[in-house]
Amino acid sequence: MSDFGEGVLGLFGGTFDPLHVAHLRLAIEAREALDLAGVCFIPAGIPALRETPHGAAAHRLAMVERALADVPGFSVDAAEVANAASRPSYTIETLERQRRLHGPQRPLVLLLGADAFARLEAWHRWRELFDLAHIAVATRPGHELKVMRSGIPGDGAAGTALDSEFAARRGEPADLAKVPAGRIVPFAMTALEISATAIRRRLEQGLSVRYLVPDAVLDYIDSHQIYRTPHGH
Ligand code: ATP
Repeated sequence: MSDFGEGVLGLFGGTFDPLHVAHLRLAIEAREALDLAGVCFIPAGIPALRETPHGAAAHRLAMVERALADVPGFSVDAAEVANAASRPSYTIETLERQRRLHGPQRPLVLLLGADAFARLEAWHRWRELFDLAHIAVATRPGHELKVMRSGIPGDGAAGTALDSEFAARRGEPADLAKVPAGRIVPFAMTALEISATAIRRRLEQGLSVRYLVPDAVLDYIDSHQIYRTPHGH
């Protein structure tokens, strides 16, 4: 796995069931907006909080690898898929592993869409995520990035624990390089109303997904005949 030398390293976990162009745009635009040295994609083995993926882990990984082959600045970490014998992938464990790989000083930033960030409190040991990495949150159509209304206790706006963390940790892109972990940085990306669920639905219906997924993913889906039937592998 490439670690792109020095600088802030982006870590982009997902089910990628399948990888689509909004995932790629998120990674590209995060790299630009946050001045990242590179982005490492980490396909989930068995996601803890979601239904079982439709595509087998090996297929999901293979599609990410094919789509990213030779794209400068992007790499793929297969460890979650490889470890996914029977237990779910927890992001906290992924970050612990990444921290061991890169040492205590390297700034690491976990990249999330606004929908994933909104559900963060349900994640295993979620408060410890901030000890290990920054979090950067991309805008996503239909998923407002809630900012605690005033941040002032007693104004009637009963914020959640995540709202409080957001208010306390909110930073600018330039903050990411200053410390190894702990800031939350929102960033705007090109609005793309694309989801893996909608892509699978189109495939089940026999409709085209060309230009919603990279050509390499389309070729893979066609040659392996995945997603064409409900729950089909
Ligand atoms: P689903 O169909 O369940 O919504 P998905 O398209 O979100 O799946 P995931 O693999 O779960 O695919 O997404 C990985 C990450 O990419 C998540 O953090 C998610 O928020 C983000 N993401 C996915 N699609 C978009 C999008 N269109 N805009 C912004 N972020 C996105």
